[in-house]
Amino acid sequence: MSGMFDLTGRVALVTGSSRGIGNALARGLAQAGATVVLHGIDSARLASAEAVMAADFSQGQIRSVAFDVTNDVAAAEGIAWIESNVGPLEILVNNAGIQHRVPLLELDIKDWDRVISTDLTSAFLVGREAARGMLERGHGKIINICSVQTDLARPTIAAYTAAKGGLRNLTRAMTAEWASGGLQINGIAPGYIHTEMTQNLVDDEKFNAWILGRTPANRWGTVEDLAGPAIWLASDASNFVNGQTIFIDGGMTVVV
Ligand code: NAP
Repeated sequence: MSGMFDLTGRVALVTGSSRGIGNALARGLAQAGATVVLHGIDSARLASAEAVMAADFSQGQIRSVAFDVTNDVAAAEGIAWIESNVGPLEILVNNAGIQHRVPLLELDIKDWDRVISTDLTSAFLVGREAARGMLERGHGKIINICSVQTDLARPTIAAYTAAKGGLRNLTRAMTAEWASGGLQINGIAPGYIHTEMTQNLVDDEKFNAWILGRTPANRWGTVEDLAGPAIWLASDASNFVNGQTIFIDGGMTVVV
């Protein structure tokens, strides 16, 4: 890839890239030339994701580091490891996330906390550590993976909805403090994407029919649909795009 979308030699960390959307985003950034650090919490799954992807790219272009994104010390150590062993971190995609489905009256505080810390606090912790070096160097890109639940609620996913709404405003807060230091921080809000996390919904005939009817594009998104926008937001092609959340949802959030 050449020109303003070229990421050759830039170091990118995609959290939660051992599978699903993060893995596809990592592949997209690597195709644009980035040196990509894969990440997850399960080391065995991460090692096998690294082996699969490394086979398709240049020697040393795919690396990996495991840490818990909800732990401040682990996040700081993980970013420090990348800066010393891979290179200055120029692109961070805060993608790691979980879902928990239960009616609000039955939602336990432990599950609420687990979802908020994995889907929202993580972006603060990893983003803060990544931004330290980026601000020193005067440039960097942070992409926070939001959701249609950044804008719209649905029953049984209150903690997720609160976290993803918060993530859009965290994107704005990061912009307020770090844009003048040369960073661009933006969000990508995927619509309903077919992954392991949503396989049970795809298999549910009623839900699947509702998704298709509710989506102007009349299909589930694919992980590949998200790679182009991620490359754009990670590259010089978006150098004056600050604090925005881009919905990639086949039109779901613009129709009733
Ligand atoms: P997924 O397939 O379940 O993958 C989740 C990833 O996050 C895995 O790599 C997992 O690591 C990692 N992770 C989870 N908790 C972690 C922790 N505490 N520390 C470190 N890593 C952790 O999820 P997905 O469907 O691709 O979703 C990825 C992101 O997109 C999430 O933020 C999700 O909310 C968002 N999203 C998804 C959809 C969709 O339709 N799928 C739509 C909108 C937004 P391990 O493999 O080690 O467990």
